[in-house]
Amino acid sequence: VNPDEYRASLADGRRVFYDGELVTDVATHPKFRVAVDNVAAGYGDGERGLNSADAYKFPASSDELRARMESLTGWEPTLLMTLESLLALGTTASRMPADEAFAKYRSRIDGFVEFCKQHDRRCVPTISDAKGHRALSPAQQADPDLYTRIVEHHADGIVIRGAKLHISGAAVAHELLVMPTKRMKPGEEQWAVACAVPVGSPGVTIMNAVPLPPADEWEYHPNSSHGGLPEGFVVFDDVFVPNERVFLAGEVEHSATFAHSMGLWQRLGGAAHMAEGADRLVGLARLLAEANGVEKIPHIREKIADMIIYATLVRSGLEAAIENAVITPEGFATPDELYTNVAKYYGALNRDRMLTFIHDIAGGAILTAPLPGDLANPETRAYVDKYMPTRPGIDGEYRTRLFHAARDLTVSSAAGHHQVAMIMSGGGLFAQKLVATMHYDLAHAKQLALKAARLDPPGKG
Ligand SMILES: Cc1cc2nc3c(=O)[nH]c(=O)nc-3n(C[C@H](O)[C@H](O)[C@H](O)COP(=O)(O)OP(=O)(O)OC[C@H]3O[C@@H](n4cnc5c(N)ncnc54)[C@H](O)[C@@H]3O)c2cc1C
Repeated sequence: VNPDEYRASLADGRRVFYDGELVTDVATHPKFRVAVDNVAAGYGDGERGLNSADAYKFPASSDELRARMESLTGWEPTLLMTLESLLALGTTASRMPADEAFAKYRSRIDGFVEFCKQHDRRCVPTISDAKGHRALSPAQQADPDLYTRIVEHHADGIVIRGAKLHISGAAVAHELLVMPTKRMKPGEEQWAVACAVPVGSPGVTIMNAVPLPPADEWEYHPNSSHGGLPEGFVVFDDVFVPNERVFLAGEVEHSATFAHSMGLWQRLGGAAHMAEGADRLVGLARLLAEANGVEKIPHIREKIADMIIYATLVRSGLEAAIENAVITPEGFATPDELYTNVAKYYGALNRDRMLTFIHDIAGGAILTAPLPGDLANPETRAYVDKYMPTRPGIDGEYRTRLFHAARDLTVSSAAGHHQVAMIMSGGGLFAQKLVATMHYDLAHAKQLALKAARLDPPGKG
């Protein structure tokens, strides 16, 4: 598939809305064009070191996993999401029981992964249900569709109804990988559904929130204007899914396996993004300090040192997750659950502190620096050239543009979007805490404490 073929593939009858408007051509619509161009660039762009086939290769070792994460985090997000989604399916298949009842699902998952590979399909994890009243189970909701469910069983497939919210990149991808949002209990069989649905399927509608700066302000948003996926509110209005694309249909005991596997891979991706982003924030803080002439002042150095520690801890967690990857019986590397969840949790929880340090180091011009038009107009430019420089080598334009970048990366609406996405991706903070606690070796910790206390475990002689 080449970039033009990808663009053409979006004309598959998909029903996409932006702000109440039916989008007739996703590939050229101004709100989707940047995302489409980014995804298109990921198709076969060998020149920039990207190999689209990387998105389909399951890593066989920690080294391969590390290399895959490094090559994909630097690129457009649907590539990484495709790898994460397919690996999550692979991990799920690996965790399903070996018995006959699940053999069909495992072979369908294998078939689907192969299909995506053959046709260079971009896949997005489609998990988060509308959920209604959070304290109530699917069956207790006023409307049973608040969790996506099976409404009809046929000999050749199922019909699903419901909505999946906040689905990144849905409108510009090919496949929606529908998975249950949480563990379903006996009696909740209709909500225990996992399947792959092409975005253009009859009955699928996607409303979008697009975190893109206004088209005429791109110079003022040097980073966010080059990225940003549409976030999809995906509705399934009685969508038929053929059997070969159904990976779970009522087996409640395995409903959580999908979300857990997907959560693991999404959190690894989140930690990888945060590790890279944290290093970028350290670099930004130092550039701002140098541009302002304060890089040697003790409290500034201390703030940057704190940021270095944050960045390094997130990276350490990521590295530990990768280095301690478990090789499945099928031969691919899955990251360590404890380190993945801890790295994602720690990174997301403390990221706002890094932004605070940047704002403190930057000073007020992060919000008030002259605009790109002031640089373009000779009348105002003269004032920028006179009053914005600080020291030899730091001229008015460079410092002004550095502030634009700092604002774009840390306080713009795109920066806010990114901050919330980092907290929510792979589930909110609580989800990571839960999994981390589950995988932590508490028995060992208690044993150490008892040893230090010179005590036997309670209840034993
Ligand atoms: C920018 C962005 C991109 C996203 N991309 C995707 C995507 O591509 N695919 C996808 O499937 N999802 C995606 N998500 C969704 C994300 O996984 C969810 O936002 C997250 O799981 C939280 O669900 P929620 O938004 O419904 O919030 P809620 O479930 O309402 O959670 C809000 C708070 O309430 C707590 N809470 C809610 N219910 C309970 C309960 N029963 N018990 C204890 N605590 C509870 C949560 O822990 C949290 O603290 C994305 C989210 C964002 C913001």
